Amino acid sequence: MDDLKFIKDDTAKRFAEIADMNQKVWSYAEADYAEFKSAELEAKILEDNGFKVERGIADMPTAFMARYGSGHPVIGITAEYDALPGLSNEKGVAEHKPIPGQTHGHGCGHCALGAGAVGAALMLKDWLDEAKVPGTIELYGTPAEENGFGKSFMAKAGCFDGLDCCINRHPNSINSMHATKAVGYYVVRFTFKGVSAHAAAAPEMGRSALDAVELMNVGANYLREHLVDKARMHYAYLDAGGEAPNVVQSHASVLYYLRAPKLSYCDYMLARMKDMARGAALMTGTQETVEVLGGLCDVIPNATLAQVCSDAFVEIGGPDFDENDYAIARTFLDILPEEEKAKVIKAGAKENGVSEEEFAKHPLNTKVEPFSEKDMDYIMTGSTDLGDVSYKCPMVMMSAATCIPGTSMHSWQHTAMVGTSIGDKGAACAARAMAYAATRIYRDPAIAEKAKEELFKVTEGKFVSPIPDGMKPGTGINS
Ligand SMILES: [Zn+2]
Repeated sequence: MDDLKFIKDDTAKRFAEIADMNQKVWSYAEADYAEFKSAELEAKILEDNGFKVERGIADMPTAFMARYGSGHPVIGITAEYDALPGLSNEKGVAEHKPIPGQTHGHGCGHCALGAGAVGAALMLKDWLDEAKVPGTIELYGTPAEENGFGKSFMAKAGCFDGLDCCINRHPNSINSMHATKAVGYYVVRFTFKGVSAHAAAAPEMGRSALDAVELMNVGANYLREHLVDKARMHYAYLDAGGEAPNVVQSHASVLYYLRAPKLSYCDYMLARMKDMARGAALMTGTQETVEVLGGLCDVIPNATLAQVCSDAFVEIGGPDFDENDYAIARTFLDILPEEEKAKVIKAGAKENGVSEEEFAKHPLNTKVEPFSEKDMDYIMTGSTDLGDVSYKCPMVMMSAATCIPGTSMHSWQHTAMVGTSIGDKGAACAARAMAYAATRIYRDPAIAEKAKEELFKVTEGKFVSPIPDGMKPGTGINS
């Protein structure tokens, strides 16, 4: 059996289904924990194709798991489907034009992410039926990636425990492996309680909670100098006490994100910040409360898995864009400022090995950038809930193009592009790349074993969830 040919042919057969999922989830545009229609659409398609589906897992109504096959390797795929507030836009329209009555939009392209993931699972089901080798697919429908730690709650609840590895993808403007590290983080609220008083007539009676927050922030700002590289602390006032300067503010709170290359280092930062809060409380005669409202593990990339997936992706190729897709893409290229446009064309021509004139006519990346082990040294200073998955099993993330180069994720431009046939093709490309990579692991289970050994060297099998015990999904402050 020719696996490459099988997956290519199956992509053609499944294309309409994948495109339809992208289009529907794009139009539902549901955000954190309210992705009811999106999750149900994908769960139902899997169920109709013979997958055994468990809905509402890990205490989240819009989380699900769909399983097919039996025996090892057990390969996981995660699907996301949450949209972002404020990013609604008409599809294919190269101007900022929100859809009347709709605030949310798929600016991060999770409509194509989920469609590609489910598409890959469907193709693997077709392939397992034909290849008759042992192997299981577990597709996880994961809510609230953007603002709610969906996969972290799932990891804490024991999802992903039985996986031999997990293959994922994210929309982007490039076709590549995304095998970098990413920082872990905690979301922490510091609240101070003091005593109110007339700030002019009886200041000696007052104990200012606002003073406490300010003094704690001063301490934090000095602490920054003594943290490891890529550690980040940023804060926002949640409550500055009130609006009247002639009142000593008796309550105040501030929200901090504590980020670092390892979650264990975030624990250290948290301990230092608790001391800062205690110190500020002592200085001001107030009382402090510290609450961890959520968090994410850092991402551990896996060279073994990334190499196998990269080889498969390079062999099966990037998206099959056509003239219609390029015509849409050109309208978005044209709205870039001249300098930016020139940069995009120059970089795109180099990336795809074509002339600048040619790339200006066809401004979408189709070439697949192979994985390089050097990528793994890079630490992204943003975070993702795939970090928790990466502690549980070898994890890899691929990117497939759903927009022109120079498009930032979380933009109305991406919403507009991913809702067109460009997004459909990007989703189908990701689906076949993930599926083809998985067939190699099913054929050679030693790959997953080697990947697990590589992971064990980093974690020694330990996983500590950053989610506080007893915390329910959707109750923390957004990430
Ligand atoms: Zn995203």
